[in-house]
Amino acid sequence: MDVIKISPRGYCYGVVDAIQLAKTVAKDPNVPRPIYVLGQIVHNQHVVDGLSDLGIVNLDGSDRLSILEGVTEGTVIFTAHGVSPQVKARARASGLNCIDATCPDVTRTHDLVVNLVAQGYEIIYVGKRGHPEPEGVMGEAPGHVHLVENPADVAALQLDLDTPKIAATNQTTLSQWDTEATMAAIKQKYPQAEVHNEICLATQLRQNAAVQQGQNADVVLVVGDRRSNNSNRLVQVVQEKAGRPAYLIDSVAEIRPEWLAGKRVVGVTSGSSTPSELTREVVKYVESLPAESVPA
Ligand code: SF4
Repeated sequence: MDVIKISPRGYCYGVVDAIQLAKTVAKDPNVPRPIYVLGQIVHNQHVVDGLSDLGIVNLDGSDRLSILEGVTEGTVIFTAHGVSPQVKARARASGLNCIDATCPDVTRTHDLVVNLVAQGYEIIYVGKRGHPEPEGVMGEAPGHVHLVENPADVAALQLDLDTPKIAATNQTTLSQWDTEATMAAIKQKYPQAEVHNEICLATQLRQNAAVQQGQNADVVLVVGDRRSNNSNRLVQVVQEKAGRPAYLIDSVAEIRPEWLAGKRVVGVTSGSSTPSELTREVVKYVESLPAESVPA
């Protein structure tokens, strides 16, 4: 079968740096043991498993403060998604050695929120409930950052309509089209709101490529972890903006033959936390399928 290797795809610089930092820490004998990662270093189980082979212990749970409760010694690595100031303070108070792998693009959003709240703004933050990135940003100014996921949340928001200073911003890995709709709802309800688009460049470029190049495919496979927000958003934008069927797969083993039945051209892309080796295996497998043997 013909394969369109959608480009750019895969690892972004924030993920590359976070993984590299974790590997460097794991190899440094002077770093206090045990070494923990607070949550998944990036949202991909294969990456997490690779780091655990180096002796790094992955800690998971509903929120980062409660995860930290069980940690009394050693080193803790903060993930690319960023953490709240409360988490940093708790880790230091527990005497832990802290290593910060927060992506600079996430840090920029934290700084933006801190600066705006210091100027008296209330922040409407578009993000995914339960994802670590909003948790970290909201912790920068408790009570002043109002999380919304969609226009319905904006309609239900209890923020006073007369609030003079309102700013709207967002999680870095959202769909730019979804965010536009939610931002429009914010502007309609709060015309005074200043909008600060914080979708990172890596996410935007991957989404644009998936939509533009995905249009030339009969079906698109997105290689990524189910917990990866940007991978899920790639599936969504291909379905909604390119008008093509799209499926999220963790690896080549999850491809279902019926998805490819009768198809001639398959687009392949991957989330920014997906190791390129997994994507290569998918490309190789699909290329090996003779188009004429695929049942319609
Ligand atoms: S997806 Fe964007 S914000 Fe997230 S790690 Fe990559 S560059 Fe940073």
